[in-house]
Amino acid sequence: MSERMALMVGNWKLHFTHIEAIAYVQKLAFRLTDDDYARAEVAVLPPFTALRSVQTIIDADRLRIRYGSQDISAHPSGPYTGEVAGGMLAKLGCTFALVGHSERRQHHGEDDALVNAKLQAALSCRLTPILAVGESLPVRQAGNAISHTVNQLRAGLAGVSAEQAADMVIAYEPIWAIGTGEVATPADAGQMAGELRAALVELYSAACARAVRILYGGSVKASNIRSLMAQDDIDGALVGGASLDPEEFARIVRWPAQS
Ligand code: PEP
Repeated sequence: MSERMALMVGNWKLHFTHIEAIAYVQKLAFRLTDDDYARAEVAVLPPFTALRSVQTIIDADRLRIRYGSQDISAHPSGPYTGEVAGGMLAKLGCTFALVGHSERRQHHGEDDALVNAKLQAALSCRLTPILAVGESLPVRQAGNAISHTVNQLRAGLAGVSAEQAADMVIAYEPIWAIGTGEVATPADAGQMAGELRAALVELYSAACARAVRILYGGSVKASNIRSLMAQDDIDGALVGGASLDPEEFARIVRWPAQS
């Protein structure tokens, strides 16, 4: 790790009503200390229906937990039934918008062009995009994990300036490790994060690449976070299943204390 502030993001996926979300945030906040916040920025990505409640509890109790959306419309407004626009998310106090999660690519047919449009939509509303990239098992087995993932990064960032890119977050999430209990080895995850940072140097500049935070995601738990965080180019984690338990997520945020 470097001058980059660590970032731990809990992706709740399709879990928690707005009532459960309030209880969760209170439990998480109760467990986090000043030291934890000094070491890492902590964020949760609730379902859309819980964002207003999360905003209310965080504002009312002046909590230092940040939050964002799991998805964002590529459009600012209009006849797009079921979608939620960046302006609406910004008004709810969101800091982050996740784009390109493999579950959206897989189950909702989102391709690189749409991911890029969503990323641009987030930027235009001053939301920080978390761009998720990563390879499937067949792609890894064929030896193409790095080229595939770097290509996703390039496509996702098409048209993005160096100034905009410097504030972004990239999440490397090998699909075969998401929700499966299979974790990339710290060395493999670190190597991919290094390749992604090298691609950012090429696309922009060394200074820009140094500023971008790169997260690892895929079956992160308190028991494996420390070795992942020991990798130079890994600045945090995007955590699915293990983030649903505030106690476990707080332990992940406190990674240096884990074995
Ligand atoms: C995710 O949803 O982004 C994820 C990494 O899930 P899990 O931690 O459950 O593998």
